[in-house]
Amino acid sequence: MKLPFEMDLKEKVAVVTGAGGILCYCMAQALAECGAKVALLDLNQEAANENAQKICEEGGIAKGYQANVLEKESLQEAHQHILEDFGPCDILINGAGGNHPLATTDKEYFQAADLDEDVKTFFDLAQNGVEFVFNLNFIGTLLPTQEFSRDMIGRKNCSILNISSMNAYTPLTKIPAYSGAKAAVSNFTQWLAVHFAKEGIRVNALAPGFFVTKQNERLLYNKDGSPTARTGKILAATPMERFGEAEELLGSMLFLLNEEAAGFITGVILPIDGGFSAYSGV
Ligand code: NAD
Repeated sequence: MKLPFEMDLKEKVAVVTGAGGILCYCMAQALAECGAKVALLDLNQEAANENAQKICEEGGIAKGYQANVLEKESLQEAHQHILEDFGPCDILINGAGGNHPLATTDKEYFQAADLDEDVKTFFDLAQNGVEFVFNLNFIGTLLPTQEFSRDMIGRKNCSILNISSMNAYTPLTKIPAYSGAKAAVSNFTQWLAVHFAKEGIRVNALAPGFFVTKQNERLLYNKDGSPTARTGKILAATPMERFGEAEELLGSMLFLLNEEAAGFITGVILPIDGGFSAYSGV
């Protein structure tokens, strides 16, 4: 993997949640490339193991761990193994997250006639779907932070990176729960940055624009591979007129984790979005 710049993380242990997925695997790969020992956590053990295996084959030090970011015991168990395998956590990337169809409306705008049609409206959103999404993104950031940031207390150059989203600034249509949950992740990033400031633990977040991954490909591409109308709208609202590539998150990630470059930066949510958040549409 070609890194945007070199960085030495040889003495560091990095824990990455959601590392069975596309964006966090890429981040885990980059951390390993810089010499960190990387623990890849995911609900999907096979995906975590496979990605860790690939990193090891590339010469990195990595291991996959099955963990549910919504269950304290599961995180404690993974943490215990990581302490034995690699030692205490210096870097935590809270990457596990996503949306759910039960918390997604079929249409962007409500029209009264939808009530008589087979359309999932705002009124049909399932409480358990909304709770699932809020929990996965917000509680799924809070619990791993409670678990792994304990290792950072009293140690130097430790840092936490959360993953927010464009919809934290302005909600995207159809996905109210995911939007609200990511807004909570941004808010929590600022809260925790303040809370941990005296201990020297920096807390920042990346706010990726649009990247095609497992969790959104059904919203962005039809089954036949043609782009959906939503893709057209996204690209029209992205001044650079394209989706991002996972590798394009790496420069920001390494910068925010780098004590020399970003040692006075905490509580920042950095958009990596091809200009999406800056563009009013006119
Ligand atoms: P992805 O679906 O490829 O990866 C998400 C991973 O999280 C999956 O491997 C999944 O198994 C894991 N996961 C789900 N529930 C879990 C749980 N309870 N415990 C542990 N792991 C769990 O998605 P991605 O696009 O790589 O997403 C990574 C992060 O980036 C997410 O927080 C997502 O919300 C955020 N994000 C993505 C985009 C985008 O355009 N793809 C944009 C903004 C933010």
